[in-house]
Amino acid sequence: MRCYFRLLCVFLLILFLFAGGCIKNPVTGRKELVLIPKGQEIALGVNSAPEFEKEFGGKVDNAQLQRYVGAVGGKLAAVSDREMPYEYALLSSNIPNAFAVPGGKIYVTVGLFRQMSNERQLAAVLAHETVHIAAGHSVQGLQREMGAGVFAELVGAIIGGEGAESAAALAKYGAALKNLDYSREDESESDEYGLKYMDRAGYNPWGMVELLELLQSLSNARPGLFGDLFASHPLTSKRVSRVREIIARDYSRYSAQSGDPRAQRFEQMRALLKSVSKE
Ligand SMILES: [Zn+2]
Repeated sequence: MRCYFRLLCVFLLILFLFAGGCIKNPVTGRKELVLIPKGQEIALGVNSAPEFEKEFGGKVDNAQLQRYVGAVGGKLAAVSDREMPYEYALLSSNIPNAFAVPGGKIYVTVGLFRQMSNERQLAAVLAHETVHIAAGHSVQGLQREMGAGVFAELVGAIIGGEGAESAAALAKYGAALKNLDYSREDESESDEYGLKYMDRAGYNPWGMVELLELLQSLSNARPGLFGDLFASHPLTSKRVSRVREIIARDYSRYSAQSGDPRAQRFEQMRALLKSVSKE
């Protein structure tokens, strides 16, 4: 009985959304069909985040480092086009990675943090992930991948369900999120609007080029070093050259050569990280 009721709810939700028309994407202005309301997206993130954190070694146990990542991310959150309870954290995994969980939780790993050399590179990766949330890429991607109805039902089970039912739904959802391939358009958008968020937050957008080139050289030097980062964020030279073109067109007042004024602060944090973590 309960099962039919849920299906009926999903059906009505879909009907309502189709009837009500599409929602305007706050980042791109494009009209899109969004099946998961914001409140549910946030609840989904709160429910599933602990599992993801655990998988990537848990949060680094150092308040100063977490505050730092939170402060850099917070500047980007403050200028994003969609109000969400954004949270930024550093995870202990040594595999270079960064990802966003629907609802606004954004993570960067120690493995990636350690490879960067200034704050604008960190801002670049966090800006890219912030756009994935602001533009709803992860939710849209899951809707696409799992089928909209199935996804909506799973969300219902995770948020409304109890015990085994909820855990099973969460596992299914987690597996889908891990295999989630953002579309090439999503990646382009995250790069492009990521530059915009960096500019709005006072960061030199050249940090994005530095980051992408760093990742590319690391990947060339040690293929297989990276985990899911390259599965969900394919890195191509075309992507780097496109970012360069956008900067030349829209952010020509910035110079690639000018140093990052916050590089020293980043260096202090990297030294702190080295003192508290194992290689
Ligand atoms: Zn991405």
